[in-house]
Amino acid sequence: MQVAERIADVRQAIRAARRDGKPIGFVPTMGALHAGHMSLVTASRNECGYTVVSIFVNPTQFGPHEDLDRYPRPRTADLTLCEQAGVDLVFYPPVEEMYPPRATTFVEVGGLSDIWEGAIRPGHFRGVATIVAKLLNIVGCDRAYFGQKDYQQQLVLRRMAADLDLPVEIITCPIARDPDGLALSSRNAYLSPAEREAGLAISRALLAAERAVKAGERDPRQLQQILRSILDAARGLQTEYAIVVDPDTMRELDQAQAEMVALIAARSGTTRLIDNLILKIP
Ligand code: AMP
Repeated sequence: MQVAERIADVRQAIRAARRDGKPIGFVPTMGALHAGHMSLVTASRNECGYTVVSIFVNPTQFGPHEDLDRYPRPRTADLTLCEQAGVDLVFYPPVEEMYPPRATTFVEVGGLSDIWEGAIRPGHFRGVATIVAKLLNIVGCDRAYFGQKDYQQQLVLRRMAADLDLPVEIITCPIARDPDGLALSSRNAYLSPAEREAGLAISRALLAAERAVKAGERDPRQLQQILRSILDAARGLQTEYAIVVDPDTMRELDQAQAEMVALIAARSGTTRLIDNLILKIP
């Protein structure tokens, strides 16, 4: 496995892989890798001949009072996981490599970036879109893999790729969870046992909405009520939003449709947790 810190070295490695005619798969991450990240790596390894992982804690997607400084950066453990998973190239750039002081260009994805996560975290999706556009240009992959865990993010990035005619296929992979239901996240490491317990209400609420749909409930406002009632009963959990939206526009629904997405963002202690579930009317 090659580890590159410089853009030029990535481009050189990719040129060599291209000469071998291998389709190139790419998994952008902020590190502190867990089984969710590794499921994206597995998908890439299954579908592509050469897999690149980037590990970069991207400062432009963090707000001024967010956890940029305390975000975990376990370099050795991350590289070991990548090596064991059969990753071909890890791009591990320092901040100056991605944001030289002279850089002034940002990518703004209109509409989708301003609601829900974007409303609570102003500028977040501008940072995400900018770094992912740069990474896609550097790696020049055929397929890029993202998690459904960050539902709005993958929609924003799909919009960006379409609008900018980026020659890449965006692939969204299912949410990996711990056995107790909690969606895997690098931020779960911040949770105390009690905070984790409170956080479990999030996946419980989503599953309750799914059960209600299977039992015949269709009304998105009722489903939203089900989410709320379970979240409100969890001590120590502060819900930021619990909504049922259209899968493409993320607009809140007031009428049932064949596919809806239930999305939750909540704080357990100081840790923000997000999760979602696609609800399909049988
Ligand atoms: P991050 O390192 O948090 O920026 O995540 C990197 C990629 O991994 C993103 O596309 C995430 O959506 C994805 N990811 C994070 N957690 C999970 C999870 N539990 N299951 C599936 N994908 C995930």
